[in-house]
Amino acid sequence: MAGEPQADCLFCKIVAGDVPATVVRETDTTVAFRDINPQAPSHVLIIPKVHYPDAASLAAAEPVIAADILREAGEVALEEKAESYRVVFNTGSGAGQTVFHAHAHVLGGRGLQWPPG
Ligand code: C5P
Repeated sequence: MAGEPQADCLFCKIVAGDVPATVVRETDTTVAFRDINPQAPSHVLIIPKVHYPDAASLAAAEPVIAADILREAGEVALEEKAESYRVVFNTGSGAGQTVFHAHAHVLGGRGLQWPPG
């Protein structure tokens, strides 16, 4: 069923506590944890507890949870003292998506160039 945990999904395993992660925030609908391969001094991933393969499919099925992720991005940036920050949803392998469970990257703590690579 849509949104149900997937046995082969790494981020579903993090939600279940079966794979360790450095969790910085948790809500009823989301988990935020430090990226294991940080691309900035502060690099936190925010994931929905429900499983959807990318941000657009999450927003189509669960718009309130998609909004929760954006609100959590602001809370993470505040806690990380990142005055300026970037929220990234890589979507599709050509854009660098490697884990097909919707997630936002929240990057801060350094100057960020535009356009991104
Ligand atoms: O956008 P993308 O799908 O590439 O992002 C997945 C992210 O998940 C990567 O930045 C990777 O470093 C991170 N990751 C993690 N913990 C894991 C596996 C992957 O933080 N156990």
